[in-house]
Amino acid sequence: MSTELTPPQRRRLRLLRFTLLGAVSSALVALLLLGVVLLRGGSRTLLLVLGFIVVESMTSAAVLGAFAKCPACGARLGAAAQGLLPARCGSCGVELR
Ligand SMILES: [Zn+2]
Repeated sequence: MSTELTPPQRRRLRLLRFTLLGAVSSALVALLLLGVVLLRGGSRTLLLVLGFIVVESMTSAAVLGAFAKCPACGARLGAAAQGLLPARCGSCGVELR
């Protein structure tokens, strides 16, 4: 079995990684803003909104990571922590680069 992804599979992987990264980085940015607001004493509403964004983006990153599928064989890639994908598929061994 080939350990290389075909171009369409690679595109799907890139999209998946992009979505994961987007969710993780928006969680980090919201967390950072939350820290700033906490330190400088912002409004309660702002805190709630930022808190919600942090929780929401972390949840979507976790869900996306947990349900991410191998673009080659469709096997679940497993709960990759912090929204990061494993280096290769545990099922078919294709490289996930
Ligand atoms: Zn696979």
